[in-house]
Amino acid sequence: PAPALAPTAHEADATDQIDLGLDLDLLRRTARDGTTYDLAWRRAQLAALRDLVVEHEDEITEAITADVGKPALEVRLTETSAVVQEIDHLLAHLEEWTAPRTVPVPAVMRPATAEVQLQPKGVVLVIAPWNYPLQLLLSPLAGALAAGNTAVLKPSETVPRVAALVERLVPQHLGREVVQVVTGGVPETTALLAERFDHIVFTGSTRVGRIVMRAAAEHLTPVTLELGGRSPAFVDGTMDLQVVARRLAWGKFTNAGQTCIAPDHVLVTPEAREPLVEALRAAVEEFFGPDPQRSGDLGRVVDAGQHARLVGLLDGHGGQVVIGGQHDAADRFFVAPTVIVDPAPDSAVLGEEIFGPILPLVTVADVEEATALVRAGEHPLALYVFSDDPAVRAAFTTGTTSGGMTIGAPLLHIAAPGLPFGGVGSSGMGAYHGRASIEELSHHRSVLTKPATPDTLRVVYPPHPAWKQSA
Ligand code: NAD
Repeated sequence: PAPALAPTAHEADATDQIDLGLDLDLLRRTARDGTTYDLAWRRAQLAALRDLVVEHEDEITEAITADVGKPALEVRLTETSAVVQEIDHLLAHLEEWTAPRTVPVPAVMRPATAEVQLQPKGVVLVIAPWNYPLQLLLSPLAGALAAGNTAVLKPSETVPRVAALVERLVPQHLGREVVQVVTGGVPETTALLAERFDHIVFTGSTRVGRIVMRAAAEHLTPVTLELGGRSPAFVDGTMDLQVVARRLAWGKFTNAGQTCIAPDHVLVTPEAREPLVEALRAAVEEFFGPDPQRSGDLGRVVDAGQHARLVGLLDGHGGQVVIGGQHDAADRFFVAPTVIVDPAPDSAVLGEEIFGPILPLVTVADVEEATALVRAGEHPLALYVFSDDPAVRAAFTTGTTSGGMTIGAPLLHIAAPGLPFGGVGSSGMGAYHGRASIEELSHHRSVLTKPATPDTLRVVYPPHPAWKQSA
């Protein structure tokens, strides 16, 4: 994660004077006057958001490629298309997912009806990181609008072109009474978090997640926290290792490893380790050619700070670099797809979230040792099991927890529209995507309706003669 600094005393004072250019009252009025209950209103907002992405896809792609160093095709697959798919999925199910849910009423209360109504929460604040700067800003927004909320967007300051573009495009497509954008870094976000919102969706590091939750506590604002951590993979050689290696290399080296659910490290059994290394070598060459630095399909590291951090991880890990290892800050912060076998257990590359194209393999004796290692750490955001052995899969399913899990591949659970996406423990709380977004960003109001006649409640009214008390 980017080493974002806590505000200095000077910055904290300065937040009082920051003009965020925000009209929160306007957003609150829209969210509270009933306008947004109308599903036609929600459809119109979602359609406008879709137009924003589709009409400006080229500009968006250029900005993300320039800011993050991501190849254009990757941007289309993982950012613009992902947002459009999310919007289409919400639009296709809007009636069904927002409809009140009827529940049975106990016989003693009848006649009566009871239902759970999903109400818009109000104004939702969305704070996004830099690594998927469009998807992680606009997918939560789509959910917020589908649930009838208005919203404030805070893109990451690490991607200034993307932030400026979003700031320019949003008012062209969505009314100021519906969505407003605030740009800036720590001082601006600190000032923003002092305001009262009805829900906050934060995606970023676990460290900043704590800051956001503390600020939210002041207003008792509910939060969805999409955080980071180390996501392990397990490989035991019972699946085709050529396929496993290609999938691992794809999951790890997409966006140069700067993916929250990228496999951080691989726990591998002794017999599978050497064949896996060879298969990874073949996969890296197949994907990026003999010299990955010249490949147009390999993303770059976002900035000098992150590059220096990753170069630090490549020094003094105590393991054996078997693939890659090269880096070149002068070439748009290049780091080669790298595989390290058995780094020292206390090395930084096995300690912190890697967030770069470095894949350590850690030899484990068996599935018991692997699950024990997973259990010993913080609950990961994602877990990947590459094994055809049902007992091994079961050992991970019941013997570990994680935000999400894919068996047989990396990353895919985030892209299946029916699956809620979120973390657990230090990798986050709450979940979104599709129906989960509507559920998460709505207030679930219980409503019971009882007609005046017959007045069956007479049995509970005083006085309470003996026959009632014994009933
Ligand atoms: P970050 O936590 O540094 O920043 C995220 C956002 O928080 C930015 O908009 C930033 O301006 C703001 N911020 C930073 N410091 C702040 C402070 N002191 N007070 C208030 N706001 C502050 O994260 P990042 O470096 O942009 O992103 C990388 C991290 O995000 C990684 O840890 C990664 O795992 C995580 N991530 C999680 C998911 C997920 O869905 N769970 C997705 C992508 C990234």
